[in-house]
Amino acid sequence: MFGWAGTILRVDLTKGEITKQPLSREFAKNFLGGRGFNNKIIFDEFDPSITNPFDPANIICVSPGALAGTFTPSSGRLTVSVALSPRQHFMSDGNCGGHFAAETKYAGYDSIVIKGQSDSLVYLYINNDHVEIRDAKHLAGKRIEEADSLIRAELGDPDVQTLIIGPAGESRAVTSMPFAGCSRAPGNSASGGVWGAKNLKAIAVRGTKGVQVAKPAEFFKLYEGIYKRNTSDPLYQAKWSTEGSKWLLELVGSFAHNNQGDTASISRTDLSAKNFLENYGVKSRACHACHTHCGHYWRIKDGPFAGAASDSAEAGTIGPWTEFLGIDRADAGLYLSYLATDLGLDAGGTAANIAALIHMFQDGLLSEKDTGGLILEWGNVDLIIKLLEMTVQRQGIGTLIADGHEAIAEYAASGKASLEEIKRKYIRYTKKGVPIWYDARGMTGAMFSLSLKTRLIDVMSVDFAFTGAPIDREELLRLDMEPELVDELIQNKVMDLSTFKGKSVAMVFYDNLFMVSDSIGVCRRTTPWEWQHFSIHDMASFLSAATGLDFSWQDLYRSGARLAQVQNAMLSRQKIGRDYDVLPAKWLEPKYWEGFGEIVTNKAEFDKEVDQYYKLRGLNSNAVPKRAALEELGLHDVADVLGAEGFYKEEAVTAEP
Ligand code: SF4
Repeated sequence: MFGWAGTILRVDLTKGEITKQPLSREFAKNFLGGRGFNNKIIFDEFDPSITNPFDPANIICVSPGALAGTFTPSSGRLTVSVALSPRQHFMSDGNCGGHFAAETKYAGYDSIVIKGQSDSLVYLYINNDHVEIRDAKHLAGKRIEEADSLIRAELGDPDVQTLIIGPAGESRAVTSMPFAGCSRAPGNSASGGVWGAKNLKAIAVRGTKGVQVAKPAEFFKLYEGIYKRNTSDPLYQAKWSTEGSKWLLELVGSFAHNNQGDTASISRTDLSAKNFLENYGVKSRACHACHTHCGHYWRIKDGPFAGAASDSAEAGTIGPWTEFLGIDRADAGLYLSYLATDLGLDAGGTAANIAALIHMFQDGLLSEKDTGGLILEWGNVDLIIKLLEMTVQRQGIGTLIADGHEAIAEYAASGKASLEEIKRKYIRYTKKGVPIWYDARGMTGAMFSLSLKTRLIDVMSVDFAFTGAPIDREELLRLDMEPELVDELIQNKVMDLSTFKGKSVAMVFYDNLFMVSDSIGVCRRTTPWEWQHFSIHDMASFLSAATGLDFSWQDLYRSGARLAQVQNAMLSRQKIGRDYDVLPAKWLEPKYWEGFGEIVTNKAEFDKEVDQYYKLRGLNSNAVPKRAALEELGLHDVADVLGAEGFYKEEAVTAEP
């Protein structure tokens, strides 16, 4: 098989069984790889009546994208999914870079599907055709870097790539996840607890088979073209390849201060990209085949965290660990970022839980009796370090942090206040369980997408203007976007921050684009959304040259819609409907934004735009994909499952003459 490796690896931890299933060409063509494979495998194989995420029947899918292992720019992305997330209570996924995805393809696998539960701690070792479940009792409680070193030493192979949970996953913290290469987080999957429940500490993979490309000469030419177009663009040089995402902190950090409690002007000097590069950055770091190299190795030279060094820090991790918790020191942000990663904790979700507790304590809702004598206060780095350690050990108040935002809200409300009021005031999560550590009020695209989508990164689903990315037709065309799509976006004024109108159009566009990029394994950061010349027709060209199949950009765009509908259908089966597509209550309150005045959220307009999104997507009023919408995309089997489960009774009645 060209492009794909041709095999799905299946592991049953209860029986200790390993099987290899040939990948069908039809399945590969329709669902591409990565997120697309995971969504469809889970849809087909998971019983949605199971509601305990730690049930052995829960499924973990780890899939590289279709282009992983080739030198398609930024094609090292990996999707890690769980059928039932402990934090979100539905199918959830996260996506990360690094080198694990490419290595998995080199070993010969397009997906690793894990079910069951081992009766003791194990890790999965894959070395080309040799696949083995190995004892991991000696790795119990180990942090990620130490576990990684021990696995490499034990296997005697420095080139092995790992995906590991830390003590947080073993203790089933709902904000835990596995990390690839010790620092790359498939954020939002919150799947670490499921790994812990299955007694799966890690996957270590080594592959030497390479990937067969159907048209190598064409592939080289495509690569040369895209490399030149990007590296000669001054916008590329100015931001991502130099500063990574750190520059975003200067913007976003100010919307996060003290659990989003105070958005007045605050000093951001220490958190600036300039400060990072001058005082901490050692050199840039790239994921597999990525010319953008947005990551950085960093080292702290002096002060209380002197000697700490890692590559685990970007805006999405430093932000939650600094201003969100009232901390304005870059060294503390970097250190906390590193520590949380090494323990196996997600930054946004864990920080949101801690921020809620500090906020409650400051308001007198919690006392030292609740915290075991700890004074919870803003800006106290030592306190955060202690709370992180208590979280993974499930000690005292750390148990609440590990159990998540819902447990915190219920604890605080018990006998003292209404649950709804507690959530509105202190909990910074959307109803779909996405941590929102910064305040998006006033940024309608970000508000719209964050309220509806299942991942924080899906803020990218709408808001060009949020990051100051290109905002006019000429700029989008200059970045080689397809004129038809550009015109549709421009006509619907998707960049207008003052209104929710048009955001449904942007969301459909980005749903489709990012479903494709997550499935072929290309990084969102290298798309036009972030000023790069890598649009959907480029993706189609690379995929065609790699697989030898003929993909037009329209085919791929349609694939994106197909993959989005599989996810929508699965969420419907897991009882996630219209009542989950709501604005977080906090964002319904007006706020004063310096330079812009008072910002008032127009809820009626938001609700109308949600209806419009459902219409564009072919969803009914409860977010269930309609039969016709599924069948139009070739998803007859998905429609049949929904039909058999009773979702279309109403449609049938309505259709009667
Ligand atoms: S843009 Fe950054 S995160 Fe994305 S693949 Fe490249 S180096 Fe990795």
